[in-house]
Amino acid sequence: MTKPIRIAVLALQGGVREHVQALNAAGADAFPAKNLEQITMAMGLVIPGGESTTMIKLAQMYNLVEPIQELRSQGMPMYGSCAGMIMLADRLEGGIVGQETIGGIDVLVRRNAFGRQTESFEAPLRLQNLGVESEPFPGVFIRAPFVVEVGENVEVVGAIESGAHAGRVVAVQSGNLMATSFHPELTPDIRVHEIFVNIVRKAQ
Ligand code: GLN
Repeated sequence: MTKPIRIAVLALQGGVREHVQALNAAGADAFPAKNLEQITMAMGLVIPGGESTTMIKLAQMYNLVEPIQELRSQGMPMYGSCAGMIMLADRLEGGIVGQETIGGIDVLVRRNAFGRQTESFEAPLRLQNLGVESEPFPGVFIRAPFVVEVGENVEVVGAIESGAHAGRVVAVQSGNLMATSFHPELTPDIRVHEIFVNIVRKAQ
């Protein structure tokens, strides 16, 4: 029997249930986690989309920021979508005054970056970690951030291909850490979650 791949979805705020379902569909044993005890039971952590300003405030209030940083330093794989990308970015632009992040990925992320006209939109994406030849991934963007600067150890996995935002970086990977501007959990396509489940499996 293969060992269950236990993945926690940070359940302070935002789209938790959809990630749990997508992770389970991708072969993991996923559960919502509200406190450190639950997070520590997992082999990997997903930080969902939602509102990063609220999420970080709650994380600070429950004293979760440093412990999560500690788990990350110990190598726990983490994946953030949308607000979760903001949470995992080392540097943030367009945040509220004093907005802290958990950090870990050496990128500068711009919050609410796509502007009013296109606050929400869909774009097909060719993601490097799926293989460039594979079917495009349906990118769902909701008041999404994008990556403005990428540090040395960060791999760009996906960028917008055409239109006003062509070239904008929307998916990155750095060691066991991964972040997307878009919401794969809101589509029936589980390939991004499968990639994360594999990262977690390999980290064991
Ligand atoms: N704009 C939100 C934020 O700043 C992110 C939006 C999302 O997660 N869908 O946190």
